[in-house]
Parts: sequence; C-alpha cells; structure tokens
Amino acid sequence: MPIDPTLEYDDQNIFAKILRKEIPCRQVFEDEWALAFHDINPQAPEHVLAIPKGAYVSWDDFSTTATDAEIAGFVRAVGYVAREMGLVETGYRLLANIGIDSHQEVPHLHVHIFGGKPLGPMLVR
Ligand code: AMP
Repeated sequence: MPIDPTLEYDDQNIFAKILRKEIPCRQVFEDEWALAFHDINPQAPEHVLAIPKGAYVSWDDFSTTATDAEIAGFVRAVGYVAREMGLVETGYRLLANIGIDSHQEVPHLHVHIFGGKPLGPMLVR
C-alpha cells in the first residue's frame, strides 16, 4: 500500500528497523549520514537503496527539516555509492518515490540507485 508522506514518522517502518540493525540487510555503505543496501526485490541488475540516517518520511520532509549537514551528507553518499558500484561510466538512474501517486511503500525516505543495463524509458507508458 502506498503511504501518505504527510504522516508522522513511524519508527516501526522496515528501514528504521534496518537502521537499528534489528533486521539484516545486504549493506554496501554506511557512514554518519547514510546507509545503503541492496533492494530485496531488485528491478535491475544493480539495485541499491540509499537512506538518510535521520527520521524522514519523504523528500518533502527531508528538504524542509533536515540540517544542511544531513542533506549534504546524504546527497554525497548517494553519489559515492553509485561511483563505488561502478556505474558512472555506463550511467545509472536515481529514483525517489514520494507519496501516494508515486506509490511510496516504505515511509522512510529512500533513493533507488538502478544500473547495470540500459534502463529504458523513465516512466511506464
Ligand atoms: P518504494 O516503492 O519506493 O517505497 O520502494 C520500497 C522498496 O523497498 C522496494 O523496492 C522493496 O523491494 C524494498 N524493500 C522492502 N523491504 C526491504 C528490505 N527488508 N530490504 C531491502 N529492500 C526492501
């Protein structure tokens, strides 16, 4: 079910549990600001999720309430992970689903990093 991004942060969401190490993930990166791990249901040969460490539901929430340091740390982490995945030369796609029309399922901000093959059109036609 897609979530309403205007909702209060739910600290029982699955990514909050991953951040607290209550459930495992296939981690690819972690620093002070961000965690990145393989998507459990990959939609491309390379499909990693990057999440900020803070309790933010959506891009709207993050961009209005996170500190400059959190925003810089997260944005840099996404670029670093894509580079480390070897995707700079071939290219890659970043995607953040926000709210109901975008069918966001997990109410903790996440950026999908897709790559490893030509990814086709941006949206299903
Ligand atoms: P979204 O529709 O943008 O909210 O996408 C949520 C993504 O989280 C989906 O691609 C799921 O496959 C992925 N996902 C859900 N649970 C897990 C998990 N435990 N570990 C890794 N990825 C997950």
